[in-house]
Amino acid sequence: MFTRILIANRGEIALRIIRACRELGIESVCVYSTADAGAPYLKLADQSICIGPGPAKDSYLNISRIISAAEVANVDAIHPGYGFLSERADFAQVCRDCKIEFIGPSPEAMARLGDKVACKRAAKEARVPVFPGSEGAIEDEDEAVTVAAKIGYPVIIKASAGGGGRGMRVCHNEAALRTNLKNAAQEALAAFGNGAVFIEKYLESARHIEVQVLGDKHGHAIYLYERDCSVQRRHQKLIEEAPAPGLDSRKREQVCASAARLIKDANYAGAATVEFLMDEKQNFYMLEVNTRVQVEHPVTEMITGIDIVKEMIKIAAGEPLAIKQRDVKVNGHAIECRINAEDPGANFRPSPGKLTRFEPPGGPGVRMDTHAVTGYTVPPNYDSMIGKLIVHAEDRKAALARATRALREFKVEPIKTTIPLHLRLMENSSFKEGGVDIHFLERLLK
Ligand code: ADP
Repeated sequence: MFTRILIANRGEIALRIIRACRELGIESVCVYSTADAGAPYLKLADQSICIGPGPAKDSYLNISRIISAAEVANVDAIHPGYGFLSERADFAQVCRDCKIEFIGPSPEAMARLGDKVACKRAAKEARVPVFPGSEGAIEDEDEAVTVAAKIGYPVIIKASAGGGGRGMRVCHNEAALRTNLKNAAQEALAAFGNGAVFIEKYLESARHIEVQVLGDKHGHAIYLYERDCSVQRRHQKLIEEAPAPGLDSRKREQVCASAARLIKDANYAGAATVEFLMDEKQNFYMLEVNTRVQVEHPVTEMITGIDIVKEMIKIAAGEPLAIKQRDVKVNGHAIECRINAEDPGANFRPSPGKLTRFEPPGGPGVRMDTHAVTGYTVPPNYDSMIGKLIVHAEDRKAALARATRALREFKVEPIKTTIPLHLRLMENSSFKEGGVDIHFLERLLK
């Protein structure tokens, strides 16, 4: 097992990893930018190292500074968290070259599954259903038009290297497809450093269902069942829950088994999430694979009792998975509410600033994953998520009641947060019934 791990991230996920290290008896070294200097979570690490100024490109995205910190601190491994460098195969390769274990998949497995075009190809080979669309990246406009005519409109243009819901365009006809293609490719190049785009069938009404999987370095892969993440705004998740409400048990086994098969065939070691869209008949189509820990991993932890971050560390250290598929049991229902420093009443404008009051809820079945405390200043530089409220109860109805109770206890001042919106959602009849689609929230906000 490792002696010392460097955490190449910030905020709640850095704290989540510090906690896992502590419980495993591993020392943690946290890097930070000047915008995060003095943040209370840094004191919980064994050591913290400043790697540069606020802009992420000069700190959390700066590979050479992170590697220098790792060498100074003499760590055995680096945990990248989510976002930042977590899905960069070049970073995983630099770690390998420097003989530092990257806590995540090999650069090869990451390249195979992390790129959307390559991933769709791997999915087809593993007999995992994917949306009809272009074979690989689109080379020219006429090719896109031919493919779209074959699969039928609407279609969606996506960047092969895309992420975070950015750069996707829905096209309802040929004219729209032609105008959007060039812009999409240029935008993808600017945003992701890779201009490759592809098209696929656009599903008007769908649910977002994703499967948590774990693979080890000895050829084993297991699934920890699914999450429903259909409550989204601008393709960004706001609420996630597990298990998915109303999912047919045969479909559940099918989608979970196909996700595990894809991971196993790719010789993938680490935690991964295979994302799918599900239509009204509960047919599944794979969207992409996220080759890292997800923001919403706690809901799976709550229903399975498995600590995903610890498993990632053990897998990276070369341990074979100690959990067998038949040992993975689903217990109750869990819901996660993302608490963002944003004003839902003003088009979700960021609302950073000093917290004069931060009183998170507690009590039975309530878990708070947050780095915020009273007196903490939410910096304007990064993602607006300041914490996650996760509730667990015996069934969905009890989990909804618990979430409502906990959200009412939650006091944050003076900044604006998504708490009032979550309260509204917990009381919404469509959401309460379960099985809302990915456009539900945008319809509600209109
Ligand atoms: P990203 O990597 O940017 O998150 P994804 O491919 O995971 O992109 O898609 C994010 C979201 O975009 C999905 O959850 C869904 O809401 C929407 N989406 C993506 N592809 C389709 C599609 N083919 N049909 C309908 N909606 C889609």
